[in-house]
Amino acid sequence: MNDLHARIRTVARERNAVILAHNYQVPEVQDVADMCGDSLELSMRAARTEADVILFCGVRFMAETAAILSPDKTVILAAEKAGCPMADMINEEDVRRRKAERPDLFVLSYVNTTAEVKAESDMCCTSANAVQVVRTIDPERRIFMTPDRNLARYVIRCTGREMDYWDGYCVVHQRLTADRVKQVKAAHPDGLFVAHPECRPEVIDLADAVHSTSGMIALARESDHKKFIIGTETGLLYPLSKAAPDKEFIPADPGMVCKNMKKTGLPQVLNALERTAPVVSVPEDIRVRAKQAVDRMLAVPRE
Ligand code: SF4
Repeated sequence: MNDLHARIRTVARERNAVILAHNYQVPEVQDVADMCGDSLELSMRAARTEADVILFCGVRFMAETAAILSPDKTVILAAEKAGCPMADMINEEDVRRRKAERPDLFVLSYVNTTAEVKAESDMCCTSANAVQVVRTIDPERRIFMTPDRNLARYVIRCTGREMDYWDGYCVVHQRLTADRVKQVKAAHPDGLFVAHPECRPEVIDLADAVHSTSGMIALARESDHKKFIIGTETGLLYPLSKAAPDKEFIPADPGMVCKNMKKTGLPQVLNALERTAPVVSVPEDIRVRAKQAVDRMLAVPRE
């Protein structure tokens, strides 16, 4: 354990802070955190703690989700400028305009959206539960899914349900091409190719399995396969190798690196904790409406 790590743990104790690290964070940040995982899971677990402060090591919409679920706690984001280009591809005005054009729309927003967009939505979903969530939506309603076109196309493929969707995408997953996957598969014919649903449809076509980040970790732990080609942000390789140390994980494309996720290092974590800043807060009227959309998702039974 280095000095910075030890100092962070001391200050976290003094502030009664819980440190959350998304699965795409650098290893030293994951190691200093109290909890690692995907964004919604982290926010839900943090809400159940007695902590006064939540320090999120991730990007802004994740800290907002923590603030939506924990109005009595102070939420801080370790790297102030860490945003998500996909979440920023749509805003609340865009959603309102769509609803004005088609009042029967059912707006389904991926959790990778701003609090304002969630507040304009009927329901939220994650990459892990999007398919189940869509199966519960009244077939008479026309679904409009935001912001990720690739996740929407994946849900359409799984459910056969027609829907409208916003033309957003994750810049990191969009980078992975079918040609690249074919090359890696040819080099590792014994590797199971696991894609994230944010990948392009032609990449999904080549996948042996499609999972969210937490789904990939569970698969690595439980599968009999020994080698996996991982089609998501390369930060996930660290928790994968911790979950299944006897197995081999190959990045489908080592260039799948989210610049925003890498804005957090141990100095940023310590600085944010010492200053209890920058605070991420959500205005109460937006928070309440955004929480309703999240709560409707949480009410969907798990398969
Ligand atoms: S990996 Fe993609 S979805 Fe996640 S924060 Fe980066 S740009 Fe946004």
